[in-house]
Amino acid sequence: MKINLISDTVTKPTKGMLAAMFNAQVGDDVFKEDPSINELESKVAKLFNKEAALFFPSGTMANQAAIKLHTQPGEQLICDKYAHIYNYEGGGVSFNSGVSCKLIDGHRGMMTADQVEAAINPPDFYHSPLTTLVSIENTTNKGGGACWDFEELVKIKAVCKKHGLAYHLDGARLWNAMVAKNENPQQYGDLFDTISICFSKGLGCPVGSVLVGDKETIHRALRVRKVLGGGMRQAGYLAAAATYALDYHVNRLAEDHNKAIEIGKVLEGLAIIKKVEPIETNIIIFEIDDRLLTADHFLEKLRNHNVYIIGMGQGKLRIVTHLDYTDEMHHEFIKILKSL
Ligand SMILES: *Cc1c(COP(=O)(O)O)cnc(C)c1O
Repeated sequence: MKINLISDTVTKPTKGMLAAMFNAQVGDDVFKEDPSINELESKVAKLFNKEAALFFPSGTMANQAAIKLHTQPGEQLICDKYAHIYNYEGGGVSFNSGVSCKLIDGHRGMMTADQVEAAINPPDFYHSPLTTLVSIENTTNKGGGACWDFEELVKIKAVCKKHGLAYHLDGARLWNAMVAKNENPQQYGDLFDTISICFSKGLGCPVGSVLVGDKETIHRALRVRKVLGGGMRQAGYLAAAATYALDYHVNRLAEDHNKAIEIGKVLEGLAIIKKVEPIETNIIIFEIDDRLLTADHFLEKLRNHNVYIIGMGQGKLRIVTHLDYTDEMHHEFIKILKSL
């Protein structure tokens, strides 16, 4: 039995999801004539209490489009040093938007409103780039699936308002945060100018992300998506998967979180583990005591048991639980860990 825990993106569509995809009504979405895409977009916009939404092929493209929509070349955005937009989007912030990042040294990928305010360049000091956007991530990926304290997000919103900055949320795993903290999409929609959400992570879809915002912003996003090559034709088959996931795969995220917490407890009990970061959702980040075993050797031991996880650099290892990680695999993995 292969146990793949490298990411929550490795899932394959469930039977119900495949049936929904096969039965989808489709049309040419570049002409906005795909009923399944239109249905998904209005459903997601409504969930977040936003005016409009747009379907994207990836979370990266949705984030990059949002950055393009909120900035002009030469300007600067503020984000945490762990941010996905800075670390894992191929340098897209500069490539697509000609924008630089002011990095905040936050805690597990999360910064405070005071840190954000201190990072804003004075707008009349023309020597430094003009700050125009704040981007945050919930849950944080490199931060180990940590969830923000909603009150801090509200405080950052106040800073954005005071200084006229746009506010974007990279919500690739926002569903995980909302399930873990018992929050709702409307709270987030009311706070942020734009939010990107992924269907290809915990929700188990093969492909797809959505960007929500006001009508004018999402209308402009249509052109940016076209420029980035993200205008797709009969993509309703993918939207049907996302609509299905909203109905059937959101609440079950709690199961992924419970399994992650159980794995964390077992890891903490192992002599070879130096540190396990706090687990709030479906991501476990931990370190091996390299006096006893190297991280590479640990990965190899797991591979020999047909278990796959990945390194995050600097000796950190990552496990991600997901829809295709069954109870049977969980019991097997716990057994394997205890035998190491
Ligand atoms: C996965 C992810 C994205 C989007 O990545 P894609 O590979 O384009 O799906 C964006 N932000 C975060 C935090 C992510 O984990």
